[in-house]
Amino acid sequence: PVSSDEDLDGDDWSLLANSSELHRATPPVADGIAGCIGDTPLIRIRSLSEATGCDILAKAEFLNPGGSPKDRVALNVIRTAEAKGLLVPHRGDTIYEGTSGSTGISIATLARALGYRAHICMSDDQSLEKSQLLSEMGAVVERVPVAPIVDPSHFVNLAKRRALEHERVHNDGSKGFFSDQFETPANAEAHRRSTGPEILRQVAAFSGTRHAHHHLQHQHQHQTLQSPLAAFVCGAGTAGTLTGVARYLKEDAGLRKGIRIIAADPQGSGLANLVRNGVLYAATEKEGTRRRSQVDSIVEGIGMNRMTATLDAGLHLIDDAVSVTDTQACLMARWLVEHDGIFAGSSTAVNCTAAVAIALTLPPGSRVVTVLCDTGLRHLSKFYKKVGELSAKDEANDTTGTVQPDQH
Ligand code: PMP
Repeated sequence: PVSSDEDLDGDDWSLLANSSELHRATPPVADGIAGCIGDTPLIRIRSLSEATGCDILAKAEFLNPGGSPKDRVALNVIRTAEAKGLLVPHRGDTIYEGTSGSTGISIATLARALGYRAHICMSDDQSLEKSQLLSEMGAVVERVPVAPIVDPSHFVNLAKRRALEHERVHNDGSKGFFSDQFETPANAEAHRRSTGPEILRQVAAFSGTRHAHHHLQHQHQHQTLQSPLAAFVCGAGTAGTLTGVARYLKEDAGLRKGIRIIAADPQGSGLANLVRNGVLYAATEKEGTRRRSQVDSIVEGIGMNRMTATLDAGLHLIDDAVSVTDTQACLMARWLVEHDGIFAGSSTAVNCTAAVAIALTLPPGSRVVTVLCDTGLRHLSKFYKKVGELSAKDEANDTTGTVQPDQH
């Protein structure tokens, strides 16, 4: 029972869900591709919810026009640069970025739509699907051998250098702009302003009305509110999503009670160790690992082995981490196709695996939110090759009836 209007510990999130602060009316007609970004559905993944007894709710970011949450980041980065006069449309300005692919695709998409050129640097161990798509979108693509971040040829350093060289190379009055997703505040800010509020509004509406309260749209940092979601689980590549959503939920919306921010971490990434032990060190780090791109995994887009401004801004808000092996991610990807018709990208499979692990530690009925980052179409040649190999191995075992030692 609710004792007073000041008691904000109840379960009534309907006011918040409907508050004008969080509600952005969707116009009947979108103004170009940029007008289609965000407001993605929150999908209850039925099979995982039934298996865990919790509601596993996934933000369908693959439905953004550029196919990933990076559309939000690219749009915010471009608008911020325009406001500062660093980018001017239709002047031949070029946006330079170092990326595992998704951010590049979003930049290339918006560059075409908003009057810019795109120049994307990525390491050559990322799936070919992404660089092919970038070329089709008209971006200049430079695939470079994998190198440590201290090496000037690392894809991020190269993108920065190309931006600095722009004026000398082009000499036509146009400017180069390094969008710098690992360091710019505009990255996490995009998620703090859009992804986070959308998630809370959607979970609040899903949670429904139990008690009536006022003031929910005016709640502030100093109030402690029971959260309608028990956990937000998400991988980190730049940590923009994790930092931005965590800052919104914990700082802006004031959710402190009963919410946990969980990093979903692929094998070979140091983030889990950083969160748990305060040391940025990959558990599987070994001779030769430094030659790998970001992390020693077939998963693309997530995993971190170095500190960045974007991660630093949100690290104190991360409560725990779940490490996920490549094999676990592949099995989850296969499960999602078979049970839910969801063709997940590799980071999505890691997110869902970690969400299940967390759900199993929570009371039944808890709500766990995660992110569907992109689809399997961008991961056919690498991640789904391994998924296929695992399936073939299982089928072979089925037909011969032999039991492998590692199946016990
Ligand atoms: N999934 C995919 C497919 C990505 O490309 C990225 C970004 N590198 C992420 C997840 C992680 O997002 P963030 O950079 O916000 O941590």
